[in-house]
Amino acid sequence: LEEQLRQSQKIEAVGQLAGGIAHDFNNILTVIMGYSNMLLLDDKLAAEHRQEIEQIIDAAEKASRVTRGLLAFSRKQVMTPDIVNLNDIVTKVQVFLERIIGEDVKLQFVHHEAALNIYADNSQIEQVLMNLATNARDAMPKGGLLTIETSLQGIEPNAANPHEIDTAGSYACMAVSDTGDGMTKEICDRIFDPFFTTKATGKGTGLGMAIVHGIVKQHKGFINVYSELGRGTTFRIYLPIADKAPQQAVKPAVSEPPVRG
Ligand code: ADP
Repeated sequence: LEEQLRQSQKIEAVGQLAGGIAHDFNNILTVIMGYSNMLLLDDKLAAEHRQEIEQIIDAAEKASRVTRGLLAFSRKQVMTPDIVNLNDIVTKVQVFLERIIGEDVKLQFVHHEAALNIYADNSQIEQVLMNLATNARDAMPKGGLLTIETSLQGIEPNAANPHEIDTAGSYACMAVSDTGDGMTKEICDRIFDPFFTTKATGKGTGLGMAIVHGIVKQHKGFINVYSELGRGTTFRIYLPIADKAPQQAVKPAVSEPPVRG
């Protein structure tokens, strides 16, 4: 299971990387083809040059077909969202977690009493939870408590917050807390960087949190990290509520540094 998880993280990262490169490359090819086509419009152009330029265009078109193929590959991983209840996703992952979390770690689940409907891709949110939970477990080699709690949180307009996006609104919140090693500020600042890991070679890919960040961003949510060295870490994932019905919003807890997302 561990190996499978690592593998799916790698594939997802490679997909994202390939998609990103293909996208940038396509833009460059568009420029090459655009200028080459413009050169062909010049009637004073020597026949041999015309032929060379046509070869440039031909090659660029071939390259463009390759990048389109790459884009198609990476798009297979783009999300297929639906209205889903965050509590149901947590319940589903619960069974799986109970199997992979060692005996020394106690698992605790606290569900918000009402449905927390979000517009999300089930499997991606499952992946977020799995990545956070396995990191929490790894931070508690001597055992401890791993708590997963869902709640409804309201963020007020213009609330002082350091996030790039306008965060006002109702959010389904998923908090993953451990009583483990915690992180220094230096580590905490880098956890979302792809390939950043403090784990032994072969144990960590450094992709888990980068993927979490990517998925949460794609869902228009944000992440809050609170960590104390030697005491533990809490990750809070905020995902916009997708309910039409008015929600009874709860005021957010006082903001806790450091915050990323
Ligand atoms: P990996 O788990 O493969 O190292 P991640 O991107 O998931 O990669 O995590 C990057 C780093 O963030 C970890 O190596 C670890 O140093 C730190 N980290 C993540 N979650 C926690 C946590 N709950 N407690 C302590 N450190 C953590």
